[in-house]
Amino acid sequence: MNPKFRSIALWLIPCVIILLIGWQILTASSSNTSQSSKASLTSPNAAVSRMSYGRFIDYIDSGRVTSVDIFSGGRNAIVEAVDPDLDNRIQKIRVDLPGLTPELVTKLKTEGISFDVHPERQTPQSIGFLGNLIFPAFLILGLVFLARRSNSMPGGPGQAMQFGKTKARFAMEAETGVMFDDVAGVEEAKQDLEEVVTFLKQPERFTSVGAEIPKGVLLVGPPGTGKTLLAKAIAGEAGVPFFSLSGSEFVEMFVGVGASRVRDLFKRAKENSPCLIFIDEIDAVGRQRGAGIGGGNDEREQTLNQLLTEMDGFEGNSGIIIIAATNRPDVLDSALLRPGRFDRQVSVDAPDIKGRLSILKVHSKNKKVDKTLSLENIARRTPGFTGADLANLLNEAAILTARRRKESIGLSEIDDAVDRIIAGMEGQPLTDGRSKKLIAYHEIGHALIGSLLKDHDPVQKVTLIPRGQAKGLTWFSPDEDQMLVSRAQLKARIMGALGGRAAEDVVFGRGEVTTGAGGDIQQVASMARQMVTRFGMSRLGPISLENDSQEVFIGRDLMTRSDISDSISQQIDEQVRKIVKECYEATYKIVSENREAIDCLVDLLIEKETITGEELIKVLEKYTDIPKKYRTESIFSK
Ligand code: ADP
Ligand code: ZN
Repeated sequence: MNPKFRSIALWLIPCVIILLIGWQILTASSSNTSQSSKASLTSPNAAVSRMSYGRFIDYIDSGRVTSVDIFSGGRNAIVEAVDPDLDNRIQKIRVDLPGLTPELVTKLKTEGISFDVHPERQTPQSIGFLGNLIFPAFLILGLVFLARRSNSMPGGPGQAMQFGKTKARFAMEAETGVMFDDVAGVEEAKQDLEEVVTFLKQPERFTSVGAEIPKGVLLVGPPGTGKTLLAKAIAGEAGVPFFSLSGSEFVEMFVGVGASRVRDLFKRAKENSPCLIFIDEIDAVGRQRGAGIGGGNDEREQTLNQLLTEMDGFEGNSGIIIIAATNRPDVLDSALLRPGRFDRQVSVDAPDIKGRLSILKVHSKNKKVDKTLSLENIARRTPGFTGADLANLLNEAAILTARRRKESIGLSEIDDAVDRIIAGMEGQPLTDGRSKKLIAYHEIGHALIGSLLKDHDPVQKVTLIPRGQAKGLTWFSPDEDQMLVSRAQLKARIMGALGGRAAEDVVFGRGEVTTGAGGDIQQVASMARQMVTRFGMSRLGPISLENDSQEVFIGRDLMTRSDISDSISQQIDEQVRKIVKECYEATYKIVSENREAIDCLVDLLIEKETITGEELIKVLEKYTDIPKKYRTESIFSK
């Protein structure tokens, strides 16, 4: 929405309201008059003349009254009386009554005057009035609702209502209630950050000896590792308010909003110091200025400049500490990382097995977990899981437990939850016999290679039950947290991934292979390429030919890419192709040599839909040497 339209919208609302109220008044009075003219024969307002109650009694006594219509619960009446002076013409006269007294009723009865009591007119009139109000009221409420709802949508049309007020949109928690004990598995980060708690709690200790308290700390790590939780824990331990805001919220559609938001945030923080400001996803605002392709950078740069100005503007000992989180410190503007800004970096990595165990302990505290369930086993089964993944895992398992009406979370719930988190929702088993057979051969191909290669992780299970995108799955149980992977292991992984396609190829022939191996082949290409360009595992030698960022940071990485000459990139392609070709040939050979075992395993898999690693080994043992007949080193000499 452009600013002009925004101010029009701002004016429009009061105008509409005033119009509606005016219209309401008009319609209300006109409807009153129309009602009274319609009812002129019966309504008390329409009476031609008036007379007193005493005169009315006299009229009754003298026999002039012919009929009486009583209104308003007996407060007034329209009397029809004959006028002897005007040839006994019937006159209508209005009378104010003291109420519908029993005396009056008996008097009218004894005189034989016809009378009628009409119900209160007040009620229908007010209903009519309300009815008139309902439509405009709905309109106004609707407008208010729209304005509010869109206010809560960042960047939504509600900006119109908000513009000019620069209402800050950040969250403030007076007390986070999170303590260091609630954050597990990131011991080093916790140690580094304990000092920050002291900065907030006892700044004198540092200022008295002339030390300047740092202003900003950058938490670096992948999503879900507990960066927000750590920041909250610092505020909780220090007992100070927690202001938080996400970097992506800074960057708004309207120029100037981000910067004014930063100003507001710091203003509020200063009013509440000592306190902690947490900026999530700081890379959304803090990217290198001048970099990037396309529009929208002015706004970001203004916001970033404002942030830098604010950080420079307050003294180190003002009691405000800013903690920012990012996964990509490499793209941050170097100005942000200068002394006096985010000059401290604390890395928060995905937890190792011990870390996962302690996170599981924290999150299982408030859950009913079966006594036989070993948290150590779960920690072992979940390499690569972050704190958020583990929290999610226990929650999924708890939901499954409730769904199965069990007392406490057991191993099968944990297993199912792990599978679900890694591979997605379970689908319906296939019914089409031919596809099922093909998928069974494909999966057994993976499993066979995984079991027979010395350097491959062992097979945990093979299943034909679809999950997520996959029609069937082979699960491997990785060795605990491998930090280093050897060349032989990488090649074994490539061969394992090619096992599915090789089995299709051997069994059904080259013409029958399917698209099912698409994902495997992508993986193979990426692994082989990395061996060449990043790990120096090819003939090209130990030269790094690509930096390790997965996504291209447009505007910077593009330039470094072009450092590689055409002839080198051709050689890279050649080496990648060589690795994949050799691996495929070796895989094809192993599959062909074990055709009998494969047929037997496929029958078993189709019958049982899922077979475990142990069942697989038992069958394989009948046909070939287990464990680990093939050594990758012997296949690849160089
Ligand atoms: P990040 O900010 O790094 O993306 P969060 O702090 O938002 O991650 O983590 C999300 C949730 O995951 C937390 O609320 C918490 O329940 C859980 N969690 C993540 N890391 C940990 C941890 N180290 N210890 C305990 N719980 C964690
Ligand atoms: Zn596959």
